Amino acid sequence: MKLKGPVVTKKTVEPAGQKFLTLGDHPTLDFLNTEVRINGELIDFLQTDDDVLRWLAHAGWPVGKIAEKYQQEELLELARALRLTIRGAVENRKAGKPISDTMNLFLYDAHSHLKLISDNKGSLRLERQWNPTTLKEVLGRLTESAAELLVDGDLSMIKHCENPECVLWFYDRTRPHRRRWCSMATCGTRNKVAAFRHREQDNPQER
Ligand SMILES: [Zn+2]
Repeated sequence: MKLKGPVVTKKTVEPAGQKFLTLGDHPTLDFLNTEVRINGELIDFLQTDDDVLRWLAHAGWPVGKIAEKYQQEELLELARALRLTIRGAVENRKAGKPISDTMNLFLYDAHSHLKLISDNKGSLRLERQWNPTTLKEVLGRLTESAAELLVDGDLSMIKHCENPECVLWFYDRTRPHRRRWCSMATCGTRNKVAAFRHREQDNPQER
């Protein structure tokens, strides 16, 4: 599969060593959140092939040496294309629309397999394995995680931050599922301040 990923050019470069966000409460949504909007400007945490590998390790899915030789930024391009595909699929699922077939192209390249694992107590279990050696396989585990979320995830719990300026997603695991913001410290607080100002303007005599 050769995907013409959108190479984004107008975004600023994130400083090296930037910590990835983990507020999505699901690795797939954390992957979408590698793109953030700060002060109106979209910032992409993925700027190099290494950033993609760093993100995978950060998600707990470290990748060893990739046997296949690949061109610089090829992995980056593939990861950005996957991110766009997943975002589109999540948005379509939320809107009750069918998703594009591009997810299946990524799944075709995921190349996982089942392995029987027995222990010395005589028990036997099945474990899914990923041993990426080619470039396309590197994103396999992430792709399968995203596909599982699209099928098995509770769509009403997959939420976009309610701040219209914000582009972050999260899986609402709070009880009673009333999470509205990516973070109370940022978008939540901003909303509270805005609501307060709005009330003040409407009722100046109350001051
Ligand atoms: Zn937000």
